[in-house]
Amino acid sequence: MNEYDSNRIIQSVKKIGFKKTNDQKNADCYILNTCHIRDKAKEKVYHEIGRVKKIYKNKDKPIFIVAGCVAQAENQEMLKREPYIDLIVGPQSYHKINDSIQKINKEKKIEETEFDVESKFRFFDNIENKSNKISAFLTIQEGCDKFCNFCVVPFTRGPEYSRPFDAILNEAESLIKSGVKEIILLGQNVNAYSYKTELKEYRISNILNELQKYSELRRIRYTTSHPKDMTDDLIDCYKTNKKLMPFVHLPIQSGSNKILKAMNRKHTVEEYINVYEKLKKINKDIEFSSDFIISYPGETQKDYEETLNLIKKISFINSYSFIFSPRPGTKAANLEMINEEISKERLKEIQKYLFDHQRKKNQSFEGKTIDVLIENKINGQKNLFGRNKYMSSVIVNADEKNLGKLVSVKIERSNQNSLFGSINSKSVRAA
Ligand code: SAM
Ligand code: SF4
Repeated sequence: MNEYDSNRIIQSVKKIGFKKTNDQKNADCYILNTCHIRDKAKEKVYHEIGRVKKIYKNKDKPIFIVAGCVAQAENQEMLKREPYIDLIVGPQSYHKINDSIQKINKEKKIEETEFDVESKFRFFDNIENKSNKISAFLTIQEGCDKFCNFCVVPFTRGPEYSRPFDAILNEAESLIKSGVKEIILLGQNVNAYSYKTELKEYRISNILNELQKYSELRRIRYTTSHPKDMTDDLIDCYKTNKKLMPFVHLPIQSGSNKILKAMNRKHTVEEYINVYEKLKKINKDIEFSSDFIISYPGETQKDYEETLNLIKKISFINSYSFIFSPRPGTKAANLEMINEEISKERLKEIQKYLFDHQRKKNQSFEGKTIDVLIENKINGQKNLFGRNKYMSSVIVNADEKNLGKLVSVKIERSNQNSLFGSINSKSVRAA
């Protein structure tokens, strides 16, 4: 979501004469967009400011803006501690960036941290979202009302908000017109999307079904979803929507019901498996990835083994796993941590299985011809970069004319992270 937000900020500041530069040493304005989900977020900001200060030691300092969830969480503290910062802007106040930049002067520091999400999207609805990418993000929902005990999102992104259905389709249309072939719908709980008019409630399933009608659009994905919001209308999309990729990122966090309860996750392992089985019944090719938090306070060896068993049962691919990181202001912040050595051992073992599944899945494509959406040329190489239906990276030996096309690629070799192959020129299909 920060990538989506950063692009929208760039489109916004264009209106007041700024443009994106790769020349970090000569920028007039420096925007640091931050994430607060795990530890050391604050320290990373101060470290980055130190780096910029060195670059600009002998010249005028750039306008320095800290945006994102760290800005939201730290606000006044940050302005007090670091006078180098001119503007703090939280994720629901990005529409105020243009005005704030124009108000900044040496004496005036500005903080914009209101949860003004509706005004934000209204502002951005008037700025066309064009993308020069083949695969683009599109935020449909933000914030969270679920309050898992470990998570800062409800405090930094604010309460759940779903954008109007029409505004989303307008933005999608603009992205598609600019050449986008894949749209990834975004939200902290993307499948909690709910937009009500007097006549109807629109859910994510309605968006998926509308998007598939655009002939130029080849693929649709969404992330991140919550197990509780995997409703039957969404599950049914996997029966009918040919552009919806058969890859579901569905975080479970733990395989132990005791820990899920302690986390306030509002779902059980059985409910999760039920969703998994429903989807597999529709299409056995659907693959799952997940997020895991290892060593949540109170996790015993038995709880941990339950997570391990779940990972063995559902051969997740492309998953994320991290040791619990206490976040200030959350309910779990002050709970007793599990011994660091034990945590590291558990993470290592979990990742061994996750990476193994990933490697085996990639190996299973060797010698086969698969569909790949070609996204870009790899810098300094002849090869092209694309993704298969499961989001795995595919490095393709092919001509640049295939950029933006959905092509058939014969996979020759693979490793844990990538597949490697060449294009079969006879089977190139126009995008
Ligand atoms: N809303 C999604 C859900 O509930 O499954 C997940 C979105 S959350 C922004 C992204 C991921 O960050 C979570 O799934 C979780 O695994 C991880 N995460 C959040 N807080 C964490 C913490 N305190 N320690 C470790 N991982 C954390
Ligand atoms: Fe965070 Fe997801 Fe839980 Fe919301 S549902 S609090 S975003 S982990």
